[in-house]
Amino acid sequence: MSLLARTVKESTNFNTKIALLLIDINRFYRINSVFGYDVGDEVLRKFAILLANVCREQDHVARIGDNTYAVILNGVMNVGHAELAANKILSLLQSPFEFQDRKIYVDCTIGISLCPLHASNYLFLMKECESILHEAKESNQRIAISKVPEEDVIPDDFDIELALADALQNDELLVFYQPKIALDSGGVVGMEALIRWKHSYKGMIPPGYFIPIAERTGNIKPITYWLLNSVLRQTAEWTDKWGPLSVSINIPPDFILMADFKDSITNALNLWKNDNVNLTLEIVERSLVVDPERCFSALEELRALGVSISIDDFGTGYSSLSYFENLPVDELKIDRSFVSDLVTNSSSRNIVKLIIDLAHAFDMEVVAEGAEDARTVEVLKGLGCDIVQGFYYAKPMPQDQIKKWLLEFGGNSD
Ligand code: C2E
Ligand code: MG
Ligand code: MG
Repeated sequence: MSLLARTVKESTNFNTKIALLLIDINRFYRINSVFGYDVGDEVLRKFAILLANVCREQDHVARIGDNTYAVILNGVMNVGHAELAANKILSLLQSPFEFQDRKIYVDCTIGISLCPLHASNYLFLMKECESILHEAKESNQRIAISKVPEEDVIPDDFDIELALADALQNDELLVFYQPKIALDSGGVVGMEALIRWKHSYKGMIPPGYFIPIAERTGNIKPITYWLLNSVLRQTAEWTDKWGPLSVSINIPPDFILMADFKDSITNALNLWKNDNVNLTLEIVERSLVVDPERCFSALEELRALGVSISIDDFGTGYSSLSYFENLPVDELKIDRSFVSDLVTNSSSRNIVKLIIDLAHAFDMEVVAEGAEDARTVEVLKGLGCDIVQGFYYAKPMPQDQIKKWLLEFGGNSD
C-alpha cells in the first residue's frame, strides 16, 4: 500500500485530518536547459531539503514526478494549517538556491486538499489535489485550495465561531481607521473605525465574514464594546489635536433597542473623556424596521448625549419615505454599490442624486463610500455630495499609520 493510502487510512481510523500538498517546480525544464542536468539535479535535492524543513516529524515528503513533490501533513486542524505550511514554502523560496558562484531563484505552484474535508479516500484525494494544482497553474495562482462543497461550509464557520470567542482575549482584534474628506474644503472631517481580526494562523479575516457569525452567536456584543472603548481610548491618547474630528463606529441592528446600550455609550464617553473626537454611530436601515417609534426615541436619547447618528449602506435596505420626516439622523452614507459605477452608469448616478437631495431636504449630510478614482470624486462633487470615504484618498489603516497620514494630509491640526 502506498504511503498516501496508508496515511489516509490511518486518518480515517483515528478520525484526524490530513492535508495533501502537491507542489510543482515552475519552469523546471528551463533550469535543466539553461544550467544543465547537474544543476537541475542539485535544484531537486535542495528543493526536497527545503520541503523536509517545513515538515514536522509526523509529515512526509515524496518526489512523485519529474518536477512534482507530494507533502503529506498529518493531523492538521483545518485548511488554515495547510495554507500556513504552503506559505512557509513560498517564503523560503524567496531566497535563491546557491551553486558555487551562481544564484538560482526557484518558484513553485501548490495545490492543497484535505482528507476527509475534500475527499474521503486516497485515490479521490490525489485526483482532487491534482485538479486543484492544475487550476492553480491555469489561473497563475501560487497556492490553490480545494473548495468545500456548499453544504459542508458550516464546520469551518464553527471553527471561526470557537476561535472568535478567544480572539478578544488573545488580542487578535485590531482597529483600522479610514478617513472621510469634505468635498468643499478638501479637509479631513473624520474617520470610520473598522474592525480587523488577525487570526493566529488564518491571517487577516475580513469583517464581512466574521461579523455575521458574531451576530449569530452573540459574540458581537463584547466585540462592539471592545471596539467602542478602544476607539475612544486610542483617539483620546493622540497628542496632536485634530479637532475635533468625528469617529464613526458600526453598530449592529439589535443594539439600539438593547436596555443597556445607552448606558454603555454614556459610560465609555465618561471613562475616556475624549476631546479629540465626536462619536458617530453608524446603523443600517434594517435596524429601524422592527419598531421604528421606539428606535427613533432611543436615537433621540443618544443624540442628547452628543452622539451623531448615521445610516450606513443607504439605498440597499428597506426605507420608507414616510420615515424621513421624523428620522433623528445626522448623516446618510450612500452604499458603495451605487458609487462604484457612478461614472459609467446613469441609473446609479440618478439614485445617488436622489439620495443627496433627499438627505439635504432633511438637513442631513451625505457621505459617499467607495470612491476609488478622481473621476468619481468629481462626479460626486457635481452632484452636491458633502463627504467622501474611499480608496481614492486612503484605505483603512492601523492607528499608528492614520496618525502619520493625518499629519501628512494636513488634517485640522492646530
Ligand atoms: P461598512 O461599514 O460599509 O464599511 C465600509 C467598507 O467599505 C469597509 O470594508 C471599507 O474598507 C470599504 N471601502 C471603503 N472605501 C472603499 C473603496 O474605495 N473601495 C472598496 N472596494 N472598498 C472600500 P471593511 O472594513 O471590509 O468592512 C466591511 C463591513 O464590515 C463594514 O461595512 C461593516 O458593515 C462591517 N464592519 C466593519 N467593522 C465593523 C465593526 O467594528 N462592527 C460591526 N458591527 N461591523 C463592522
Ligand atoms: Mg460603516
Ligand atoms: Mg457602508
